[in-house]
Amino acid sequence: AAPAPVAAAPSGCAHADCAPLPVLGQTVEVPLVSGEKVTYAALDYAASAPALQRVWDDVAAYAPYYGSVHRGAGYLSQLSTDLFEQSRRTVADFLDLPEGHQVVFTRSTTDSLNLLAAVLPAGTRVLAFETEHHASLLPWRRDGLTTTYLPAPRSPRQAVETLVTALQTAPEGPKLLCVTGASNVTGEIWPIAELTEAAHRHGARVVLDAAQLAPHQRVSVRELGVDWVAFSGHKLYAPFGAGVLAGRSDWLDAAEPYLAGGGASRTVARDDDGGVTVEWNSGPARHEAGSPNVIGAYAVASACRALAEAGFEALEAREQQLLARLRAGLAEVPEVQVLGLFGDAHPTVGVLSFVVRGWNSSHFAAALSAEYGIGVRDGLFCAHPLVRTLLGGTEDAPSECGAPEPSLPGERSLNAIRVSFGAG
Ligand code: PLP
Repeated sequence: AAPAPVAAAPSGCAHADCAPLPVLGQTVEVPLVSGEKVTYAALDYAASAPALQRVWDDVAAYAPYYGSVHRGAGYLSQLSTDLFEQSRRTVADFLDLPEGHQVVFTRSTTDSLNLLAAVLPAGTRVLAFETEHHASLLPWRRDGLTTTYLPAPRSPRQAVETLVTALQTAPEGPKLLCVTGASNVTGEIWPIAELTEAAHRHGARVVLDAAQLAPHQRVSVRELGVDWVAFSGHKLYAPFGAGVLAGRSDWLDAAEPYLAGGGASRTVARDDDGGVTVEWNSGPARHEAGSPNVIGAYAVASACRALAEAGFEALEAREQQLLARLRAGLAEVPEVQVLGLFGDAHPTVGVLSFVVRGWNSSHFAAALSAEYGIGVRDGLFCAHPLVRTLLGGTEDAPSECGAPEPSLPGERSLNAIRVSFGAG
């Protein structure tokens, strides 16, 4: 059956005890193989969280006033420009950005990290733990940069020691650590302030991949001390299509624009050799050429406001309650092995992966959907090296985010099952 139109989706939650922040889809009924219908349980927030009803309402309220931005003389153009620039300030407040840092709107975390890779000074050495999501692992493999992949640490302390050893032996020159705030596989929270302090002490800058952290915990750039932070709107309860790179301006303003075109250029003139000379803008416009995703930026800002107003303390408390219930339930099943690098007691956000001995993870995830209406994810979660380390295997995965599974009960699993949720 066709899904109900979004505008008609009721707010509020069908489950008695959840969602301090109403999200879309909480009342959608899905058919089971038994023929019965149940309310869909979305437990794949780490991939994309459902948009908040409030974000959708905010966007709908803005839609009639929608107009071209930046160079339009008309009233609606000016209103749209104001809302776009206000959205930037809302994101800066949400991230507690220090003065002089900037917010660049991008398409996603992946896009933000590729943007940063494109503006790094020539010769920059990028350090990343092999446990990273591919978005944090791969953008640095380009001409002019050197990449050092650090082995998977087994404790936060080992993570800091591994980084320090690598930095002590690294040659002179610009250096950048790219590190994730919370793992998209294990949910484990990384020691960002400690890693940043160590990186700065040894002359390296830090970019925080906050794709999984920002939806669950307050991220203060000022307190963590990181130089840049990247996140995606669609994991932060806004719709798809907009992301953020925020942080220090110097390298961003010194580099060629990530996208060349209108908006990035201040003036363009024909030169005597038959070409053109360009004076590029500084600030966010330098890397946002073309007509920007104003609705996307507005939606991200609306989600930031909603989370900040709900208060991360309350959201975290609710999420930790749900997490404790999930862990307790899984602990009752002896065949279940929960995956983690840092041990059971290490704090996590609402992201948890496991395997079930004797079960094919893909079949298990399909059964959760078909028999119970529960939407989880199975595979290697775009973090192939990490999941292989956690599962103790080395096989190559032929597909982007999943490996073919052994189908015989008892064979070692090559994929895992991931359950992820938030306070929305
Ligand atoms: N970083 C982490 C930790 C992620 O979990 C993800 C997505 O799952 C990304 C980066 C990439 O995000 P996007 O697909 O929105 O670019």
